[in-house]
Amino acid sequence: ARAAALASAHAAATTADGVRIEIAANIATPADAREAVKLGAEAVGLLRTELLFLDRTTAPTEAEQRADYQAVIDALEGRSAIIRTLDVGADKELPYIPMPAEENPALGLRGIRLCLAREALLTEQLRAILAVKPLAAVKIMLPMVTDLAEITETRAVLDRLAAEMGISERVQLGVMIETPSAAVLADQLAREADFFSVGTNDLTQYALCMDRVNAALAARLDGLHPAVLRLMAQAAEGAARHGRWLGVCGAMASDPVAVPLLIGLGVTELSASPAVIPEIKAVVRRVTLAECQAAARAALQLSSPEAIRAHVKATWPWLD
Ligand code: PEP
Ligand code: MG
Repeated sequence: ARAAALASAHAAATTADGVRIEIAANIATPADAREAVKLGAEAVGLLRTELLFLDRTTAPTEAEQRADYQAVIDALEGRSAIIRTLDVGADKELPYIPMPAEENPALGLRGIRLCLAREALLTEQLRAILAVKPLAAVKIMLPMVTDLAEITETRAVLDRLAAEMGISERVQLGVMIETPSAAVLADQLAREADFFSVGTNDLTQYALCMDRVNAALAARLDGLHPAVLRLMAQAAEGAARHGRWLGVCGAMASDPVAVPLLIGLGVTELSASPAVIPEIKAVVRRVTLAECQAAARAALQLSSPEAIRAHVKATWPWLD
């Protein structure tokens, strides 16, 4: 089965009843981008940009950032990339962004909140992204969004910078759904956001109030919890209302057991770890949308991740 999956790794993934699901990759470097292409990624669904900012005494310059993003786009050979703006907070030591110590960094000044508070950080990164060629291969995504104002504020900055740079192309601006607030308000966010991608790692942490780095809770920090699935269902409904697409870039998109439920909830893009892309495509090809929708409906009524996992495995016994 593994050999067959590898053989068809480069074909597009369509469910058994013909629904196209885009399979993208989560990456952090140009080397990752090359690896993702080899393994059959159709695009990059999440470029984490933190790496360039860590372990250094001065901020990466606009030119350095541009070179890095350009190298990723070049490695993708015509595929597109969703570049996520800097997602750090007080849990990270960045000497050039002095941040007051916080008692709860996960609930603090992080992600898009930090970038809007330190606008130079945001404008330098957005200018670096806008300089990438071809710009049509680039989409921008904001982390830790909780309400509409964060999108409209960022869009205004982006539009101003584009105008200053003489760019008339409209770059797509999407947001991560990784706070319960964003999931609940998805119908509002969808007015301004061009697309959504669920960050199931943080959405699970925040929905279940379980710190994702607390080892004592790791076994219970499960994205297949019905509370997380209900938030995703709400996000999907909000996205659909405005004709926006909904993807997943958290770890659930790399979990074969979760994939049919995500498809059933209305997800049309899965951004996974490059290594599992062939396997995720193989899962997509063996399920139908109707089965996935029925399983998702059932899952939303179950009361534990264990029961939901068991239901999925009973529906598709070949899943592991
Ligand atoms: C997530 O939260 O699910 C996510 C994809 O972002 P990160 O893991 O970088 O927080
Ligand atoms: Mg996150």
